[in-house]
Amino acid sequence: MSYSDASNLNKKTRSKVVTLPSTQRITCHECGNKKEFLEVSDGVILTTRFIQNKDGSFSQELDDSQVLGQVKFYCGDCGADLTQFHKRFLEMLF
Ligand SMILES: [Zn+2]
Repeated sequence: MSYSDASNLNKKTRSKVVTLPSTQRITCHECGNKKEFLEVSDGVILTTRFIQNKDGSFSQELDDSQVLGQVKFYCGDCGADLTQFHKRFLEMLF
């Protein structure tokens, strides 16, 4: 009896993990949104190097950003946590 209880529990906790075939687009499991997504980076240091020109104006040399914390991925519609798809998002980012 206790054995079947445990397997039921396993089924429940696993139902939220969604794996996608490699050709499928990322879809929010809460609202079905597949258009807008948010990438939220924690603890970011934004460093931008500028070069001052002879006339006193500045040109941006390079953008050196450092992410210290976690990068989370959210649905842009309902805000559901889609971080499990973030790796796939990076793979499809051009
Ligand atoms: Zn959503």
